[in-house]
Amino acid sequence: MKLNIKGLIPAIIQDNETKNVLMLGYMNQEALDKTLELNKVTFFSRSKNRLWTKGEESGYFLNLVSIKNDCDNDTLLIKVNPVGPTCHTGLDTCWQEINNQEFGFITKLEETIKNRKENADSNKSYVASLFVKGINKIAQKVGEEAVEVVIEAKDTNDDLFLSESADLLFHYLILLQAKGYQLNDVVNILKSREK
Ligand code: AMP
Ligand code: ZN
Ligand code: ZN
Ligand code: ZN
Repeated sequence: MKLNIKGLIPAIIQDNETKNVLMLGYMNQEALDKTLELNKVTFFSRSKNRLWTKGEESGYFLNLVSIKNDCDNDTLLIKVNPVGPTCHTGLDTCWQEINNQEFGFITKLEETIKNRKENADSNKSYVASLFVKGINKIAQKVGEEAVEVVIEAKDTNDDLFLSESADLLFHYLILLQAKGYQLNDVVNILKSREK
C-alpha cells in the first residue's frame, strides 16, 4: 500500500448492493487496521485530525464488505453496506449534479449575500443589517413577504405579484444563508424525494 507524503491513501467507498459511489475519504495504516478490527469504515479525518469512524455520531456506519487495492497500490476501493445516508446532507451519496446553468444568477446572488454576511458594513448594506438583527428578524421578513405574495396572488396585477415573489425569494435566500445553507441544499432534498 502506497501512502502519500502525509501517510494517507484515498479510499473510494462503494455501496455493495446499488454499486453507487458513496464518498471518498483518506486512510492511514491505523485507520485501515481500525476498519478491519471494527468491520466499520474508519478514516483518518484531515479536518478533525484524528481517526474518524464514519457514523460515530449519526449512527450511519459503513459496514465493511471488502477492500481492494488498485493496480499501482495507491487507491483503495471499499465495498460497504451503509446503515443510512452516507452524506451529512442526508443524501445517499456525497456526489450531486453540478447545476450551475439554471441557477447561475441565483448562485451569484447567494455569493453576494454570503459576502455581506461575512464582511459588509451594517450601516451601508441592507442585507448586512438584516444579519446583524439575527435569524428571528430575517425569518419574520420572510413571513411578511410570503403574506404579501399571497395577497398579490389574489389580485389581477401580475407585476405586483412578481415583485413580491422576488422579495420573498430574496429574503428566503438570506434566511437560508443565516442558517448556514444555500438553495442547493434544498434542491438536493427535492431531488432525493423524486424517486
Ligand atoms: P458521522 O460520522 O456520520 O457521525 O458524522 C460526523 C461528522 O462528520 C458530521 O457532523 C460531519 O461533519 C462529518 N461528515 C459526516 N459524513 C460526511 C461525509 N460523507 N463527508 C464529509 N464529512 C462528513
Ligand atoms: Zn492507482
Ligand atoms: Zn457528503
Ligand atoms: Zn415585499
